[in-house]
Amino acid sequence: MKRLAAGNWKMNGSSASMAEVQALLGQHPNPSCEMLLCPPATLVAQMAWAAKSSALLVGGQDCHANASGAHTGDVSAAMLKDAGASHVILGHSERRADHHETNLLVNQKTISAWSAGLCAIVCVGETEAERDAGVTLSLISDQLAGSIPDGATSENLVIAYEPVWAIGTGRTPTLVQIGEVHDHIRAQLTARFGSNAAEMRLLYGGSVKPSNAAEIFAVPNVDGALVGGASLKAADFGAIVAALSI
Ligand code: PEP
Repeated sequence: MKRLAAGNWKMNGSSASMAEVQALLGQHPNPSCEMLLCPPATLVAQMAWAAKSSALLVGGQDCHANASGAHTGDVSAAMLKDAGASHVILGHSERRADHHETNLLVNQKTISAWSAGLCAIVCVGETEAERDAGVTLSLISDQLAGSIPDGATSENLVIAYEPVWAIGTGRTPTLVQIGEVHDHIRAQLTARFGSNAAEMRLLYGGSVKPSNAAEIFAVPNVDGALVGGASLKAADFGAIVAALSI
């Protein structure tokens, strides 16, 4: 399995940010892990053009569940594909919170992504209150069961475990807590998808930075990271890619 370093630029970036892409490509012309950046929809085509013939993959941060139609302001999976994307992040906790996205909607969006030929990065994770209540593993089981359609393979699905309380806060779970959840996700996927699940990438996300990346990547069943803030600067994201390429 090739591990994956994925960056989520969220609602950040402009044409000028392509300089960071060039800097990243200068550092890692051919990393031994996969390297993906998901800029805002406005930059997908431009980034895909900048990354042409390089090892950098480009993805979207969301797509509509429908292929086309009267959905003002939305972007379809086919449009992302047409713009040069290979992946799309779905069910990020910020979308689940800001846009009331349910597991069912994430499931429908995943089907749409697959129809367009995109690999879906489906996000799951507990809030701090849910962790304190001791329901983390059962909540994650529900999110996986509800958000992932039948037909998942290691080519069309990546899971990102992102504790909501760790996103953008500088706080991270202990390595034991990360390992416990990743083992649980692997077991759930294996129960449903059989031996295929061994090759599905499980990313950890939530305040990953150059200083903690290596220890997180050493946790069994962590196959890479989904990185927010630290993916905006080539120096930081490049250091995370380097930690994963070891
Ligand atoms: C994210 O938004 O997916 C994320 C993990 O953010 P950060 O790395 O900034 O915590």
